[in-house]
Amino acid sequence: ELEGRHALVTGATSGIGLGIAMALARHGCRLSFSGLGEAEDIAELTQDLVEAGAPEADHVPADLLDVAQIEAMVTAAQRARGAIDILVNNAGIQFVSPVQDFPVDRWDAIIAINLSAVFHTIRCALPGMIDAGHGRVINIASAHALRASPYKAAYVAAKHGVAGLTKTVALEVAEQGITVNAIAPGYVDTPLVRGQVADTAKARGISEDDVVRDVMLVAQPTRRLISVDEVASMVAWLAGDGAASVTGTVLPMDGGWTAR
Ligand code: NAD
Repeated sequence: ELEGRHALVTGATSGIGLGIAMALARHGCRLSFSGLGEAEDIAELTQDLVEAGAPEADHVPADLLDVAQIEAMVTAAQRARGAIDILVNNAGIQFVSPVQDFPVDRWDAIIAINLSAVFHTIRCALPGMIDAGHGRVINIASAHALRASPYKAAYVAAKHGVAGLTKTVALEVAEQGITVNAIAPGYVDTPLVRGQVADTAKARGISEDDVVRDVMLVAQPTRRLISVDEVASMVAWLAGDGAASVTGTVLPMDGGWTAR
């Protein structure tokens, strides 16, 4: 049922976004994807998406720190493949530091990429969805949209912001066939998490093994990292017709974290 739908996935060159783009390709979506990377890696990924089943796949580059580039990204996707049916805001960055030492430029970058970019893609893509009378906005938030952890002030603030933005936009377009939801994953096995283990070890002065055992998986009762494919399957479900009445939600996929 997703066949031929036009999906724009941000941050699709790595981790969760890559898994989402591949899953949507397997469902036959036409893909516009963004994300940083070397030209040859992006060319290879484009080929992989087509081989996986995407009738079209094209990189629409943007540095999400730059509002003009975000606008140009959405415009390029719409010019090439028409209105966006499925917008997946996935790109995100992390930085870990006690709040009193938090570098101001890292705060600004996390708010810009993890929160403001979501606002910008939504405001640019929504008119096309409204004209079409249908659409799906799926924001990859985090369990940190619902819970806090020390040393992650910017990330937690941005992800809580994404939850608020998701609910607000859902209400605004509720009668127009457009659903707006966020997914709140716990710890997923990706390069971002691998980097976080190292950063948290530094901030807490403990070993990386101790971070995994005593910090990361303590929050997640299943004591298992979530796979990228699990998150991608929830995206595909939200994109489908069966989820037409699911809107304004922040859906946890966190191994029981928020049950505490
Ligand atoms: P990742 O680091 O593997 O990938 C991040 C993607 O964002 C890459 O494609 C990168 O190129 C892109 N990106 C980063 N900065 C950018 C910029 N300035 N302009 C354009 N693109 C940029 O990360 P991931 O672990 O796959 O995380 C993806 C999303 O999932 C993020 O929003 C993250 O907060 C969220 N998330 C991750 C986890 C986890 O455990 N990994 C858990 C919950 C939520």
